[in-house]
Amino acid sequence: MLGVSLSQLLGQDEVSAFLKGVVAGGRFANAYLFHGPAGVGKCTAAFAFARAMLCERGSGAAPGAPDLFATASPPAKSGKRAPAPPAAAGAERDDACGACAACQKSATLLHPDLRFLFPVSGEEKDLESNVIETLEALRADPLFVFKYPKAASIRLSITRELLRELGYKPFEAARRVVVVRDADRMREDQYSALLKSIEEPGASTVWILTTARIARLPATIRSRCQRVRFAPLAEPLVREFLMKRAELREPEARMLAALSSGSLARALVLRDAKPPALELRDQALALLEPALRGDPATLWKTSQGFARFSSGGRETLRLVIEFHELWLRDLLRARYGAPREDLVHRDREAEIRRLSASVDATEIRRRLLVLEEVLRAIEGNVAPDVALFSGLSRVAGARLGEGEWPRAAAARWDY
Ligand SMILES: [Zn+2]
Repeated sequence: MLGVSLSQLLGQDEVSAFLKGVVAGGRFANAYLFHGPAGVGKCTAAFAFARAMLCERGSGAAPGAPDLFATASPPAKSGKRAPAPPAAAGAERDDACGACAACQKSATLLHPDLRFLFPVSGEEKDLESNVIETLEALRADPLFVFKYPKAASIRLSITRELLRELGYKPFEAARRVVVVRDADRMREDQYSALLKSIEEPGASTVWILTTARIARLPATIRSRCQRVRFAPLAEPLVREFLMKRAELREPEARMLAALSSGSLARALVLRDAKPPALELRDQALALLEPALRGDPATLWKTSQGFARFSSGGRETLRLVIEFHELWLRDLLRARYGAPREDLVHRDREAEIRRLSASVDATEIRRRLLVLEEVLRAIEGNVAPDVALFSGLSRVAGARLGEGEWPRAAAARWDY
């Protein structure tokens, strides 16, 4: 997430071109609002934009700063990057150079004029250590994914401290950049304070707010920001990233990309799922067998086992259903003669071809509709094991009559 430049943003060509244009022009709005689905690179783009704004070879140099190009640039500390050649006179830079001192500092969030606000949870006394811990993890892992409890929010005390700091001049650069991650997780009074700062004439701060839930931001904030819209990532891009950067093997990368809905963060979370995704898929698909052979007792037992998998039982359940949906879509594709490379579950191609010959398209669509209903039921208040049990029974075409249900399941049937 850190140290990426605008040219390297994954699958956001329009956004990248727009932001580079802004950097080249050297005129910045007081606030930008990056919005779009979760996990598509908004925060990464915000850091890249910030870096470009702070770069000493771009428009980031503070007025009256010593001319850094007068002497040869010092070699990069890591020794990995060669120092970039000084910009030709008059040439407009549209991205971070990646080599100057400012770029090096901002790549690790250590630039004094780059501030980062993000949701945290926990008691007030633990906030500082929570923030430090998260930042350390973010620096250490290039594939870091932010995960926080529902109640996590951008804390008032931290915002207050930051706003006080904004009263002073930037330390090193021409401006200060504040990145606010998930800006929809603030309180009303924080928005008022933020608005005051955004509207301050001659302010030397550029705000970059990111959100996956733009409707939750007050209209006053939305209207004061320059909006930048992010789209879901194309599935092949997610797949390629998982293989090249997350070192996943092809079958798993293909499946996670298909399950990601264009969100790299979701794919990366699934990568870390326990049991591993491919294993979970095989278990999920095997669940259907007792349903198909008309063995409700075994189906009930295994459904319960699945629901207990983790504290996030519903999340696991949703995955199980999605595996079945992907599987059925593969059957449909196979029926229409799709080539091997179009199948998500290519590793089980022979089985897909065999099954697809015995089920017609209407039946596959019926099963998909049942699974959609189960997904909706899981979002509601239905107990996950009951929803799974009933859903898979219906997928298998078994409408169990009264008396056929295992007693424990029948007792809890409430939808
Ligand atoms: Zn630079």
